[in-house]
Amino acid sequence: MLMEDKRLDAFFTSNGHLNKRLSGFRLREAQQRFAVEVSSALARNETRMVEAETGIGKTLGYAIPIVLSDKRVVISSYTKALQDQIVNEDLKTAIEVAGPHRTVAILKGRDNYVCVEKLKHLGPRAAGQPQLVRDLNLLNAWSYRTKTGDLSEIGTIQPELKAQVTTTAEDCQGRHCSSFDRCPFFRARDRAVSADIVVVNHHLLVASYFSDTALRSAILDREFQLIDEAEHLPEILRSAVMRRFDFSWLKDLIQDLAVANKEVGSQDSVLIDIQQSFADFSKKLSRSGLEMESASTDPAAIRERLVDFLDSAESLLLNLKSILEPRQLQSRLVLKMLLSLTPRVEKIQMLAADIESQSANLWYDLGAEGPVIYAATQSGQGLPRYIDLDSTPKLFVSATLSVAGDFTFFQNQISEAPLLGLSIKGGFDYTQQVLGYRLGSDIAVDHDHFISNLIERVLPVLPSKTLMLFTSFQALTEAEELIRARYSSELFVQGDQAVGDLIERFAGAGAGILMGTRSFWQGIDVKNAGVECLVIDKLPFLSREDPVVSGYAQSLDVTQDWFTSFVLPDCAIRLRQGFGRLIRSEDDRAVFIIGDPRFWHASYADVLQRALPSFQWTQAQSDVQQFLGKV
Ligand code: SF4
Repeated sequence: MLMEDKRLDAFFTSNGHLNKRLSGFRLREAQQRFAVEVSSALARNETRMVEAETGIGKTLGYAIPIVLSDKRVVISSYTKALQDQIVNEDLKTAIEVAGPHRTVAILKGRDNYVCVEKLKHLGPRAAGQPQLVRDLNLLNAWSYRTKTGDLSEIGTIQPELKAQVTTTAEDCQGRHCSSFDRCPFFRARDRAVSADIVVVNHHLLVASYFSDTALRSAILDREFQLIDEAEHLPEILRSAVMRRFDFSWLKDLIQDLAVANKEVGSQDSVLIDIQQSFADFSKKLSRSGLEMESASTDPAAIRERLVDFLDSAESLLLNLKSILEPRQLQSRLVLKMLLSLTPRVEKIQMLAADIESQSANLWYDLGAEGPVIYAATQSGQGLPRYIDLDSTPKLFVSATLSVAGDFTFFQNQISEAPLLGLSIKGGFDYTQQVLGYRLGSDIAVDHDHFISNLIERVLPVLPSKTLMLFTSFQALTEAEELIRARYSSELFVQGDQAVGDLIERFAGAGAGILMGTRSFWQGIDVKNAGVECLVIDKLPFLSREDPVVSGYAQSLDVTQDWFTSFVLPDCAIRLRQGFGRLIRSEDDRAVFIIGDPRFWHASYADVLQRALPSFQWTQAQSDVQQFLGKV
């Protein structure tokens, strides 16, 4: 037994430190086994994959050995909400009981922190917009009070306002900024550099590999990486290496030009003219949808059209540069605009060169502000695997890393060489806590009446509190309309209000149905909401139309079978994530319903069935009532 294992005994036992510190602490053998695995990987500097079933107390299970290890560690989580939860709950407890000398910092992406420089310049632009003036006054007052500058402190913020008070790496002036000394992002980065343990999210972790040395050193100069909810990491890496370019910056630029024109002395005709040229270009882009769609059957025509847009943007920006250079001393805003032009022009030139030389695979989406362009490595050259980015030992953990104990799907996405993988079970007793209700009708998923048939069959058995997960907004909307006509309790529908508020209201209600699509499958926790039933409409297969998915498919070795090697295991893991919303504590008992007949009859059905934990199924409504104690 490793020395570290013995130290863990002082925490994961019935009279240990955790039991004394936490009122609801339950001794779980699986949690202790997981902590030993983490401790062993830390001590041996080994890279491993550990799947820890939901309910074993995974976060505390890794927080204690990390704090005990005395190593400089980065912990990465999938979402920013989870980052906050790790730091404020489990890691806080671990520090208190296992290592009060250890320091912790949290670091998020730049666009999560208020840019005090932008906030300063927004005042003049807000004139004549009473709502914006009110919001800005509140933000200003908060910006002087906050210790972190993290916008999540002020709750939900309108995306339009957020975009106006945060900045991007391209637009940030860094050390040249007059507000640098009180910049929340740079302060957070400095705290991260000196902390023993830094908690980031996967997007920032991946971005740091392709970023400046200061960000790299804050996050990556560490002896160990623990990547929680690791199943999301490969997709994020794929998105990061597929260069994305859009024209949303035009709006800010046009507004900045209007303000700069006032600052350098009203009615500078040259500035007015260039502002108008950018506005005309912006209008042309927002009308580009029809043009692009009419050219969509001809790849050469699409490439030509995209290069035209990029060439126009480049020449406008170069023209602007020559106009701003002689005026740079007249206003800070002019200087700021000038500094942001060169990196943007370089990005455009590189993208246009890739498109023209056909050295990258290319996709585009049509947004309201013009095309969003994606470019990725050509087929055959492959996409990088996470493990090859550096030699730091890494522990990949999650409740859903394998398909019925087989780690091949996840491992192939992060490493060419085999890795050690281990599943730790023992979370919940699904045989006692879940009953599957098999619907009597097997109508095909592409049938016009699929959703109406599903709702018809599930409504009679629904208990007081139900969670419904859909694979598309279209299905959700159709189901919502049908249920509203026949259901007396309240519906809590994704999109009606901020997700956190929606779940809080649902949890507080005596009865109701919470309805959501893809982001609800893995991103919400309905613990203590009294959910007694989960309904899933269809199997969550990937859409080939997603540019990132399509890019990955094209970059795979053509000898691989796309469906069995990628689509099917991905669906199995997503299904298990959705199922994972159902049981959140040892006291939960709930019914599971899946409407998709492919779960029972498809040639691959056994893969999906084995991906879920074992529990009983019934076709009798009376069994459901009895199971839920309603008879
Ligand atoms: S340094 Fe960058 S992010 Fe910070 S206040 Fe200045 S412009 Fe904004």
